[in-house]
Amino acid sequence: MNFDAEKFKASLVERLKRQYGKDIAHANSHDLYDAVAACTREMITSNWMATRAEYEKNPVKQLYYFSAEFLMGRALSNNLINLKIKDAVKEVLNGMNIDYNLVEDQEPDAGLGNGGLGRLASCFLDSLATLDYPGHGYGIRYEYGMFEQHIEDGYQVEYPDNWLRHRDPWEIKRSDLAVTVKFGGNIAYGTTPDGQPRFYLENAEEVIATPYDMPIIGYDTNTVNTLRLWEATSPNGFDLQLFNSMDYNRAVEKQNSAENISRVLYPNDNGPSGKALRLKQQYFFSSASLQDLVHHFVANFGPDFKKFPDYHVIQLNDTHPVVAIPELMRILIDEYGIGWDEAWSIVQKTFAYTNHTILAEALEKWPIEIFQGLLPRIYQIVEEINRRFIEDLRQKYPDDYEKHNRMSIIGGGKVRMAWLAIHAAFSVNGVAALHTELLKTQELKDWSALYPEKFNNKTNGVTQRRWLLNANPALAEFITKRIGHGWEKDLTKLKGLEKFIDDEETLNELITIKQDNKQALADYLKHKQNDFLDPDSIYDVQVKRLHEYKRQFLNVLHIMYLYNRLVEDPNFDPPARTFIFGAKAASGYRRAKAIIKLINTVADRVNNDRRVRGKLRVVFVENYCVTAAEKIYPAADVSEQISTAGYEASGTSNMKFMINGALTLGTMDGANIEIFEEAGKENGFIFGLSSDQIIKMEADHSYKPSEYLARNPQLAKVVEQLVDGTYDPTHQIFKELHDSLVYGVEGQRPDVFYVLADFNSYCKAQEEIAAQYKDKKGWARKTLINIANSGKFSSDRTIEDYVRDIWKLNKLVVK
Ligand SMILES: *Cc1c(COP(=O)(O)O)cnc(C)c1O
Repeated sequence: MNFDAEKFKASLVERLKRQYGKDIAHANSHDLYDAVAACTREMITSNWMATRAEYEKNPVKQLYYFSAEFLMGRALSNNLINLKIKDAVKEVLNGMNIDYNLVEDQEPDAGLGNGGLGRLASCFLDSLATLDYPGHGYGIRYEYGMFEQHIEDGYQVEYPDNWLRHRDPWEIKRSDLAVTVKFGGNIAYGTTPDGQPRFYLENAEEVIATPYDMPIIGYDTNTVNTLRLWEATSPNGFDLQLFNSMDYNRAVEKQNSAENISRVLYPNDNGPSGKALRLKQQYFFSSASLQDLVHHFVANFGPDFKKFPDYHVIQLNDTHPVVAIPELMRILIDEYGIGWDEAWSIVQKTFAYTNHTILAEALEKWPIEIFQGLLPRIYQIVEEINRRFIEDLRQKYPDDYEKHNRMSIIGGGKVRMAWLAIHAAFSVNGVAALHTELLKTQELKDWSALYPEKFNNKTNGVTQRRWLLNANPALAEFITKRIGHGWEKDLTKLKGLEKFIDDEETLNELITIKQDNKQALADYLKHKQNDFLDPDSIYDVQVKRLHEYKRQFLNVLHIMYLYNRLVEDPNFDPPARTFIFGAKAASGYRRAKAIIKLINTVADRVNNDRRVRGKLRVVFVENYCVTAAEKIYPAADVSEQISTAGYEASGTSNMKFMINGALTLGTMDGANIEIFEEAGKENGFIFGLSSDQIIKMEADHSYKPSEYLARNPQLAKVVEQLVDGTYDPTHQIFKELHDSLVYGVEGQRPDVFYVLADFNSYCKAQEEIAAQYKDKKGWARKTLINIANSGKFSSDRTIEDYVRDIWKLNKLVVK
């Protein structure tokens, strides 16, 4: 991007005048942010239009990533980085006595996602644009994103995330492309003017879907792709008749019912949503996006839909957009008069599906009454898909009725969205090698036997532009100084750092950078939540959604154990440690919330006990989000990736930590396995049961948690301390957590996630960390080896894998 400082300055002044009626001296930080963002967007507008024009002039296959979540975070810094003008803009602002950091801090996170799945979608968009692939996102413009988390008396309290309070300077509303989405009603049957039989809906609720476009700016390229997010509104506003008769509530009811569809993101990560409104959201954006694609296709190519899969491939991010499959059937059959077999063949060539979890509660299944009531015609189409499918199954497995029942898309009173996806899509992928293997051999083994050619692995990745170049500028400079540029678009180039692993000066510089980043995090948390961190201590970090399978509980139990040891044994002198947590719990997930309370309770006790001062601290970072993450990863020494083996599909924070030079403390789970493989096992800390061992124990019911308690008195002690008054005088707050380990509650087995089984092995790994950290150079050396071998975990590599095996896209360079 050619950057003209004078022109930028002039356009900034002009915008402040036009938009706010202010000059620079009177503009506040928010005005300035808005103006800087608007000027930046203006600069890329011609490239954005040129990209669109290039795709139109040169009709090629394009990828559409359908996702209910895009966890974008802030855009300003990232866009300036990708345009390679961040320093220049900083300088312009400096010259005007404006502090860039203050301006940057005005931008709210676009927090339109829960965690890893939504963040993956955002990393993918960055990589697609950077690699010049025609690939775009389709999703929902939630008015309220991920809730804002406050900690009050140690408990999580949720506040609405009103991120659109001020206008969003990045988006462009495209009212001209609005479409109508229909819900409910009854199915009617008639004939078209040319005598063709057609189904249509009568008395349906109509909702207007209006798209808002956000530019996705590639790094060091002219390509600007699009993230298109849909907003729901009512076609007739509110009912004036009712309003005039003073019935205000009912007057706005209809309007509210429509607008509620894009009101708020469901805060359930890897958990059941089960609410009709959620299905409404899913159909709303799937239908709107397909209508958009079909309109565009027909306008360009006419209604010759055989060619549709030559120009479109749709990746379904988990089961959330799977209702797009019967919706495309409906559009082709009901609106364009295409026969079933031809429509099915088009659908089969268009959709690919990504599975993100093996947790049964996260595989969406909609009760028939809800599904059919909300989407009667879509349900009818799913029934027909299933009828034909079961017929095939009967041919293939004539007497295996059990299998027919297990695999039926409609069964047990529910519509099984994952089954629908696997049956219809031409590709089914997991997100790390182990995860894909477990899908093929365990959860989806019926399906991989039926459709072996569909199954493939695509190990997740993260974009190094946001997570290294922008989040950790000192480390980025350190790298460039040694291996030159190039790694920004080809992360495997980091391998070139290996020749420095025994270079004294390099290791010293690396130590200084980490130290500075730790100081910066300490300053940030002091300012943000008045927490004190000692940058000379080990920063041991676990930041991710709060979920039992991720085992933050195991981490806290170890802290309680360490605290006991420090208090009991004055000669015990491990290096100082700061345990840092960040995690949101789904608002209805009681046990996850109790774990947050436990972390904060232990923090309160430990941080206020003089006996362990300077040795042990615990910090809970409030409101963990992308912006907080960008400050946390660069400062971490230890990356906690301690899920029960087999349960974490991939993880991506493990990758972000690795490229920022933290050492992984992890189980052999998800992408941890591949991280240890790349970095070498000796450069990380592996502990715990393997997924094979856990699968076996699950099958033969051989796990006896009580035996672990009996064998390990120190473990028994911390478990008892949950309820003996040590941390909670009422003995009640942590009783459910305690009982879930010891007895099992609500009909569950005790210790479902093998916390007690892995405790000893985890403690040993922690001791190993303490021992190794004392050797600063040795630690820095391992850090550098990790960074040098993190190339595989760029989302650029992931995107190239998808392009080669699934999407078959060609690059289209915009001049
Ligand atoms: C990367 C990221 C995640 C995913 O973390 P995992 O540890 O892989 O679950 C979640 N939230 C945010 C804000 C992230 O940046």
